[in-house]
Amino acid sequence: MPVEQTAPRWDEETDVVVIGSGLAGLAAAIEAGAAGSSVVILEKMKGFGGNSTISDGVVAAAGTPMQAESNIVDTPRRMYDDMLKAGLGLNQPELVRILTEQSSEALQWTIDVLGVKYRDRIDQFGGHSVPRCFTTHNHSGSAIIKQQLHKLKEQGMKIRTRVLLKKILMNNRNRVSGVLVQEGYQYPESESGVEKRIKARKAVVLATGGFANDIALRTSQDPRLTREIGSTNKFSTTGEALREALRIGAMPVHLSWIQLGPWACPDEKGYGIGPDFASYIAFPYGILVNPQTGRRFVNELGDRKMRADAILQVGQPCIGLADEAGVRASGKSIARCLKKGIVKKFDTLEEIAEVYQIPIPSLKKTVETFNMGVDRGRDPEFDKPVVSNATPLKHLPYYGIRLWPKVHHTMGGVLINTRAQVLDLSHEPIDGFYAAGEVTGGIHGACRLGSCAITDCLVFGRIAGRNSAS
Ligand SMILES: Cc1cc2nc3c(=O)[nH]c(=O)nc-3n(C[C@H](O)[C@H](O)[C@H](O)COP(=O)(O)OP(=O)(O)OC[C@H]3O[C@@H](n4cnc5c(N)ncnc54)[C@H](O)[C@@H]3O)c2cc1C
Repeated sequence: MPVEQTAPRWDEETDVVVIGSGLAGLAAAIEAGAAGSSVVILEKMKGFGGNSTISDGVVAAAGTPMQAESNIVDTPRRMYDDMLKAGLGLNQPELVRILTEQSSEALQWTIDVLGVKYRDRIDQFGGHSVPRCFTTHNHSGSAIIKQQLHKLKEQGMKIRTRVLLKKILMNNRNRVSGVLVQEGYQYPESESGVEKRIKARKAVVLATGGFANDIALRTSQDPRLTREIGSTNKFSTTGEALREALRIGAMPVHLSWIQLGPWACPDEKGYGIGPDFASYIAFPYGILVNPQTGRRFVNELGDRKMRADAILQVGQPCIGLADEAGVRASGKSIARCLKKGIVKKFDTLEEIAEVYQIPIPSLKKTVETFNMGVDRGRDPEFDKPVVSNATPLKHLPYYGIRLWPKVHHTMGGVLINTRAQVLDLSHEPIDGFYAAGEVTGGIHGACRLGSCAITDCLVFGRIAGRNSAS
């Protein structure tokens, strides 16, 4: 492992340095602070919160009192099985066990300790075998970040923005001893700002998120993911901090497993508003159609990889369809989607076929077969679970959206153990070095289930915070 040769000349000292101000970093800072440590939180951008603030704020948790009240039978073991099934068994089983066993407690922590409010509904996202997805009151991760900031303020901490992690420093006993940063950094000028060394008496926690917008890093792992493929992430999701962790000897894991969102719409930039219609309305209550054949081609509630791969296989944007009853059953408003033209309204299947260039006889047959399945409570074609308040697709008007995948999540990162310590190439913990959130790898395996990333950030962020402070 490379050891910094420069004699340490510290500009500042603290117990714990947390890099990154998303959900994972702030959960770590809160716990480290609560354990009595002094904490410095560093963020490279002018604003804080990373991808976490633009996320949908949906948290997966199993075996919760809210599920029990709604007669939903769920256990951590069931969630574990769902995560491993979607992850193709590549997930680190011990990390998944911890995540699922502590998922309910993590959700409860956001409610009881942070004061986060959730909507009065429990959703079932693709790949989950029961409803276990809890959505914040404003349908955004910003609701949790905001409450984390309140907590940090109570604890006397604040985030220092525009500070870029440049190097992780190690002492001559191969222990992480602090960081070299650039204060006053102006994204994306890599040399901007003034260098400063901060000593971490106890530990450094890396919580710098994913690398969805690091074109060099993502194409080196998956050459298909060129600049031409869109991303749902903030543009600042680049992997310089991950590269630095690898430079000091962290074990990389699953860097080439990069997730594409099957609900993304090519008619808008970034994440946009279309995914809300696709995830909450078209997929659970409607169908996804190949415009060339007019047929369904995948379980619309399958995991993300299954659905994104299936759309890519078709080779052109596919069409998500729902009807007015689906919109009502979802409890969602689609006014913005309609106003922006992302979702279109139709009075007949013929109109849909004309606009999206779908052969009408097969589209009619597809809808007929799907409706029979809804009536019988079983999807004969793809075994999609029939959601409890689903009705046949025949309540006018119909609604349609074009769907084409975008880079959404990077499952790979540094390998951690159950104490959130970063492991080296010999599988030994790197002394004084912890990580949590999307910068870590191996937890979600080949495919992260929707709503499991926030749980991951909360569970392992808290673990990293507690252990870094000890
Ligand atoms: C549009 C969208 C919607 C999503 N919705 C959901 C959802 O509903 N449920 C769910 O479970 N998951 C969701 N996800 C995924 C989830 O939001 C992320 O995986 C999670 O928020 C990552 O949190 P994090 O704390 O690891 O990283 P982030 O929140 O990305 O925070 C990392 C921070 O570190 C900073 N940073 C990076 N490098 C450096 C450096 N070198 N020096 C200093 N600072 C640095 C970044 O600027 C950033 O602010 C969504 C993702 C997106 C993009």
